[in-house]
Amino acid sequence: MKAVTVAPRAAGSVRYEEVPEPDTDTGSILVEAVAVGICGTDIEIASGSYGWAPRGRERLILGHESLGRVLDPGPHGGLNPGDLIVGIVRRPDPVPCPNCAVGEWDMCRNGQYTERGIKEIDGFMSARWRIEPGFYTKVDPTLGVLGVLLEPTTVVAKAWEQVAAMRARAFWEPRTALVTGAGPIGLLAAMLGVQLGLDIHVLDRATTGSKPRLVHDLGATYHSGSVADIGFEPDVIIECTGVGQVIVDSIRQVGAGGVVCLTGVGTGGLTTGLPAADVATELVLQNNVIVGSVNANRRHFYRAAEALSAANRDWLEQLITRRVPPQDITAALHRDPDDIKVIVEFDK
Ligand SMILES: [Zn+2]
Repeated sequence: MKAVTVAPRAAGSVRYEEVPEPDTDTGSILVEAVAVGICGTDIEIASGSYGWAPRGRERLILGHESLGRVLDPGPHGGLNPGDLIVGIVRRPDPVPCPNCAVGEWDMCRNGQYTERGIKEIDGFMSARWRIEPGFYTKVDPTLGVLGVLLEPTTVVAKAWEQVAAMRARAFWEPRTALVTGAGPIGLLAAMLGVQLGLDIHVLDRATTGSKPRLVHDLGATYHSGSVADIGFEPDVIIECTGVGQVIVDSIRQVGAGGVVCLTGVGTGGLTTGLPAADVATELVLQNNVIVGSVNANRRHFYRAAEALSAANRDWLEQLITRRVPPQDITAALHRDPDDIKVIVEFDK
């Protein structure tokens, strides 16, 4: 069969090539690929700056935002041929740490977890793949190819859960939330925030293109420019840019007792030189929380499937701005300014 493979840490090594059929050791459920989403992590792996091949091999099958159709459900119950499913990305570490031991591998404490298409296990960008019972989520069949948005939705399902966990601290009824960044993660974070009944605001650099309209269509408010200029103090900020200035501005702008949830990763870029003691003073005097959130466990995959199922299909459709066949993987890994979500589509 054909797959998109990469030699991690070797720039320009991405190939669409012949590989063996998926090993039965990788799961009793056989699936044919429908589509795989591309995100910043894939672009990093392709550029040679991230990723780990399986032990004893040089190349890794890329792709972690999966959508597949069950060919053979295997001996375990719960699936039928033709069902649409999405594979869970992370696998618990072998020790396991306490969090992995209770199924919270997204909170792994020792970093020895593995991840499909990223860290030591093949991903989903192959004509067929296998998955273990318990490591997939069924997708509402009426979503069709839009189910490929499920994995990025899990990331924000977890982020909102982290925010909700802060209600245990004190009496707190958040009403307003700002999402920074209107990429796929930011837009999906906004969608979930609207579903939760919050007054949602989204901030992005873009002043034209589809982002302002997509935010408006959610019933949310769009802002461009600086976080400091939004004109109110949000109860919650979901930070999806990873940009130093936006992070610092978010910490300063969030209201008293509020929560800043960081989901973006970046490097450097701090332009204000805000001293640590000043940040601490802002947090202390307002009882604020900064929480980092990454990855997702089975519960978040379930929540994401519910959220997508309840979402407007025309709106979701507009998040997918390019559909590329696997042989054009190089084009898929190239970012266009108007891209929101690019997907590799297998059964075109
Ligand atoms: Zn662990």
